[in-house]
Amino acid sequence: MPVNTRDPYDPTNIFARILRGEIPCREIYQDAHALAFHDINPQAPVHALVIPRGAYVSLADFTVHASDAEIAGLWRAVGITADLLALTDPGYRILSNIGGHGHQEVPHLHVHLFGGRQLGAMLPRT
Ligand code: 5GP
Repeated sequence: MPVNTRDPYDPTNIFARILRGEIPCREIYQDAHALAFHDINPQAPVHALVIPRGAYVSLADFTVHASDAEIAGLWRAVGITADLLALTDPGYRILSNIGGHGHQEVPHLHVHLFGGRQLGAMLPRT
């Protein structure tokens, strides 16, 4: 099992505050395991975020420390959110930034959903 996967979780991060209801969000979906909402600074016509309710820094942390039910719950919520946003049929992209090279800004695991137009190449060629 990987060991170096858990930076300390910062409970003041913006998504923890959204989960606690301290900051509003444009909610799309929620259940026992996850919350989905629109990104405040959309990078595509549709840009949503799906986050687990548990305190996990990133996917690296989540896949080691979360329960099977939490892991299943997050991915099911991603699929449900895509359906609710009518992204499934035209197609969409999911992405999760992890750590420094991933350019992760908010240290609470989140899955981005992008859609609403042709998304082009997977990564910029820089
Ligand atoms: P990261 O770079 O960590 O993968 O992405 C963080 C995302 O969170 C960014 O797309 C950013 O626009 C979004 N974001 C940051 N603060 C807020 C906020 O207060 N509300 C919402 N809805 N999104 C936020």
